[in-house]
Amino acid sequence: MATERTDVVIVGAGAAGGIIAAELAKAGMQVIALERGPRLKTSDFAGQDELRFFQRQDTRPDIKRQPVTWRRNTNASATPLGTLAYGNQAGGGTVHYGAVSWRMHEDDFRARSQTIERYGERAIPEDSSIADWPLSYADLEPFYDRAEYDLGVSGKAGNLQGTLVGGGNVFEAPRRREYPLPPLLVEQPGIAFDEATRELGYHPFSTPRAILSEPYQGRPGCTYCGFCQGFGCHMGAKSSILVTKLPEADETGNFKLVTGAMTYHVDTDDSGRATGVSYYLPDGSDNNVEADLVILAPFIYDNTRLLLLSRTAQFPDGLANSSGHVGKHVMAHMMARLLVTFDDRHMNVYMGPSAQKHTIDDFNADNFDHSDVGFIRGSQISIGTENLQGGPISASTITPPPGTPRWGAAYRDFIADAYTRHASMVAQTENLPYADQTIDLDPDVKDAWGLPAPRMTYDWRRPDEVARVEYMLQKMEEIGWAMGASQVWRQPLSPGRPGAHHEGGTRMGSDPANSVVNRYGQTWDIPNLFVVGSSTFPTMSGFNPTLTIQALAYMTADAIVNRYRNNPGPLA
Ligand code: SF4
Repeated sequence: MATERTDVVIVGAGAAGGIIAAELAKAGMQVIALERGPRLKTSDFAGQDELRFFQRQDTRPDIKRQPVTWRRNTNASATPLGTLAYGNQAGGGTVHYGAVSWRMHEDDFRARSQTIERYGERAIPEDSSIADWPLSYADLEPFYDRAEYDLGVSGKAGNLQGTLVGGGNVFEAPRRREYPLPPLLVEQPGIAFDEATRELGYHPFSTPRAILSEPYQGRPGCTYCGFCQGFGCHMGAKSSILVTKLPEADETGNFKLVTGAMTYHVDTDDSGRATGVSYYLPDGSDNNVEADLVILAPFIYDNTRLLLLSRTAQFPDGLANSSGHVGKHVMAHMMARLLVTFDDRHMNVYMGPSAQKHTIDDFNADNFDHSDVGFIRGSQISIGTENLQGGPISASTITPPPGTPRWGAAYRDFIADAYTRHASMVAQTENLPYADQTIDLDPDVKDAWGLPAPRMTYDWRRPDEVARVEYMLQKMEEIGWAMGASQVWRQPLSPGRPGAHHEGGTRMGSDPANSVVNRYGQTWDIPNLFVVGSSTFPTMSGFNPTLTIQALAYMTADAIVNRYRNNPGPLA
């Protein structure tokens, strides 16, 4: 076994791991990051060819080598989850994501208290484990600001230091200053969506995205090529960790990235302290990094799996799992979708960044009165494209309107007619946490390294969730007709499977009895073991998680550099 020694080892060099690596290395700490996938270059994304990009496997997990299984409940058998959208490369999911970059609302950090104060405790589903975060929006605001300016996010403020300003999201929490870059240009779907939602009395705005609307920090602005979500940017205009923080870390001389490294164990000593991690390389070798500080930063499945695989006599149910909460409270956004087509208006959805082009926030969080709707929390509603992006292969995944077959001449004519005239609306609903939504080790399925696959037990179809989705679909139908569409129809909902943005499994909290980590991602049980990323979210909000993951990563790095380094121990 080859062994290396360093100050800090980080598993996963994505949204959280890449930021922490760069910040710690800049502060003079020696950092080794272990990344399961490759380190691609901007030039690897040249040549916009939808078919070629769909075929490539190096940006996302290969489901044959790295399966994740899913079952509806503990009585059902688990089957492979199918396509996995998270990252499998240096930069993680930020390389191929849609780059949507939301700050959460103030009440998203206190969803439980907010609900009880406004609607009473009975409004919370009995079986939900909804909890407040152990930090407030105000605590995280400086780090949201840091992430937006450090990485490069385009958008328009709606609330500057408590004063509502025109053009942005009137429901957003107060921000200290404008976005570093103006909003991206609006495409036809955004224009039609804005007109209709304004007419209905709602408040549309350009979705904030980590895509450069203008040149910034030596990188060029976006050319609106459309090969954005699901692909890497061929010119570095998307503010991925690959083109922002990893080069910063390289420059310090204190950072080493090991690619192709499959971490399979967190190592500990007899005192229970973390001593490093063990990993396999593609040549089959078994290797080890010894470190003073161990930070787990892969996607939620591997955060949970690594803790479960690293059980000890002291922690027989999984490392750092004295609470029994490792693997619990897993959440996923339900993506309720609606399609619209026009007889006389071209949407040309293939142009520009595809994800959530323009948005209304009127039905998200507690931005509206839930007294009579039969559910709590909500969803943003956005206009964009079906599936990953607006190319013809993506468009072919559309379920046609009722009465149109999915084959033959009628289907061909529908696609030919609708391709340039359609748009897709999506409601990304905030599903609640439940303790029995879990990740554990599949006893029957192993990955390419012989390790048990992560197994998700999850079914989104609970009464609160179903009511929330139905409400949002009706709102989107209202908007679709107001846009002047000639056809408005729903896309099928998943029969229980999780939607997008999986979160939870190692949730943060204020009480070691019912959470795994504190606000910094430091495990309650082992102070030199941190777990970061969306696995730590106690609730998910109706927003994409990445900017919050990144803000938390800056906060964790700040706490390690300025406090933990001088006084290793529990961070208050
Ligand atoms: S749309 Fe813009 S950010 Fe997206 S891939 Fe094209 S140039 Fe890059």
